[in-house]
Formats: sequence, C-alpha cells, structure tokens
Amino acid sequence: MVREILQILRDIGFDELILESEDFGRVKKERLEKLEQINREIQVCTKCPLHKDRKQAVLGEGNLFAKVMFIGEAPGEEEDIQGRPFVGRAGQLLTKAIENAGYKREDFYIANINKCRPPGNRTPTIEEQEACFPYLQRQIDIINPKVLCLLGATAYRGVMKQEVKITKERGKVLNYQDKLVYITFHPSYVLRNQAVKDTFFEDIKKAIELSL
Ligand code: SF4
Repeated sequence: MVREILQILRDIGFDELILESEDFGRVKKERLEKLEQINREIQVCTKCPLHKDRKQAVLGEGNLFAKVMFIGEAPGEEEDIQGRPFVGRAGQLLTKAIENAGYKREDFYIANINKCRPPGNRTPTIEEQEACFPYLQRQIDIINPKVLCLLGATAYRGVMKQEVKITKERGKVLNYQDKLVYITFHPSYVLRNQAVKDTFFEDIKKAIELSL
C-alpha cells in the first residue's frame, strides 16, 4: 500500500519524498558531508594541469535540494579569489536572470565543469574537462536535480560529450541519465552580445519552469 502511494506521488511529480523533518535533517547532513568530502579532494587535486595556477578550487554552491543545477565552464578570476562560483560579472548576470524569473539564486545549485581556473580564462581542454568531470558527476548524484541547465558550449561538451553550436542549439531540451537538459548561452557570452540578453533571460526562466 505504501509503495503504491509512493508510486502515485512519483507519477504526479514528487521525485523525492522526505517524510519527516528528522529525515530532512538527516538527508541534508548526508548531502553536506558528501559535498564537503568532494571539496577536500578538489583542494588538493592534481589530476590536470589547472591545479598549478589556482588560488583555490571552486566546488559550487546552493540549495542541496535544488531542482535545477546550473552548470558553467570553470572559475574565473573573481571565483578563484572568492572560492565561489559565478560571482563575477557573468555570475551577476546569471543571478539577475534567475531573479527575473521570480526566484533567488539560493533556490538552485550552481557548479562548473572544471573546478580550477584556467590561466587567462582560456577554455579548459577536453582532457582537463574529462579529468574533472567525475567530481561534477558526484555533485549531480548528490543533489539529484530534475534539470541540468548547461551554460555554454563547454558545459554542454563536458556533460554530453559532444560539440555543439550554442547559437543553433540553445533552447533544446535533451536528456542526460534521468535528468532533463536545457541548453543556453554562457552569461559571459551574453555580456559580450547584449542582443541575446532577452533570449538568455527567457531561457533561464524556461529551464526553471521545466523543473516544476
Ligand atoms: S580542474 Fe579538476 S581535475 Fe583539474 S586539478 Fe582542478 S580539481 Fe583536479
């Protein structure tokens, strides 16, 4: 009987049911501990050359029960200094787009394909992306979001293992494992191409709506 009720709840969209506040607290603590473990690993990671120039590795941050995970490329200068993702100008634009959709940045989880800043903000090589991806996969498994919103071509390649032209493919909904994938521009691109700002804001809203 309980199993049937749980199945009905799943069918109408409850992916994850945490019955009591005690369970909620326990699951939250478990998720936090697992993420802290990843953070300890990346701070001393030397699996790719990007470790040489980092001030610190940047794990990601946000709601441990987020239904949407925003995934970018790699930390920039400001992120490398602060140890937080998307806190520079591009991050501020992402935050604005989330707020424009009627939400707060803290409602979601934000991470990158690579945890260390590439020198001069160059694009991480495929080898560097592949070396780092297992950390992101563990984050995805822990947070268990419904939607992965991939910000830009590197985020797309890092997760989907294929090259993509974002200007052609943005707005598409795909699948990765049991998750929905929504593709849009990286906010840095939007900063350089103000003409796509409205489209980007609309995309962020659509990615969030997919998770509802
Ligand atoms: S980018 Fe990832 S794989 Fe490379 S050194 Fe940093 S944590 Fe390790």
